[in-house]
Amino acid sequence: MSNPELIQRYQQVLDKIRQHDPDHHVSLLAVSKTKPIEDIITLAEAGQTCFGENYLQEALEKIEVRPDLEWHFIGPIQSNKTRPIAENFTMVHSVDRLKIAQRLSAQRPTDLPPLKILLEVNIDDEATKSGFTPTELLSVAKEVAQLPNIELRGLMAIPSPRTGLEEQRKPFKKMKDLLKTLQQQLPNQTLDTLSMGMSGDLEAAILEGATIVRIGTDIFGARNYNTP
Ligand SMILES: *Cc1c(COP(=O)(O)O)cnc(C)c1O
Repeated sequence: MSNPELIQRYQQVLDKIRQHDPDHHVSLLAVSKTKPIEDIITLAEAGQTCFGENYLQEALEKIEVRPDLEWHFIGPIQSNKTRPIAENFTMVHSVDRLKIAQRLSAQRPTDLPPLKILLEVNIDDEATKSGFTPTELLSVAKEVAQLPNIELRGLMAIPSPRTGLEEQRKPFKKMKDLLKTLQQQLPNQTLDTLSMGMSGDLEAAILEGATIVRIGTDIFGARNYNTP
């Protein structure tokens, strides 16, 4: 199952992260949506442990093969699909409604460690995008922090595409400031996670304090949605 090109792209992404993150504050989430389990196994053999998936059914099939890996859910969440998410993942990045957090809390099996939760922020205030507005974030975070069986750890965002490093840094800087505000308002909560940065803006995200970057294309190559 050797795939030297995949391993090489993976190493290049790791090198690029380390170049901007000499102290190893950033972890790499390999976004494997639409990619075959063989690619995941190849990367696991190369040392990658955390994988991000967007589509529940596809994710569950992969988790069944490799339950030993750490799986993060990063896609849109339908409220009637929260139970398998609560049962099968380590972290959920895309919590965009209070109701979703409440359901994940109620459905997380108590024999598992608490489910780690990130609140998705609609950082560019886009009508078409999900996520909390910065204004509503604090009151939601206070409610989510109270819920049992889940652990609010931080924030996630997918900014609108921009060109140029300085432009790309702006929304990430806002995210960093939002997390800082939450840390001050919720001092008893461990708010240590900023999930931001994808293949096109990884560098800008790391420069603004990302702790998890979510990389798909730069590792696995372009996605082909016709051959799942
Ligand atoms: C697909 C996806 C990614 C990976 O994007 P690339 O540009 O392929 O690196 C990251 N985050 C989310 C939420 C995604 O849906």
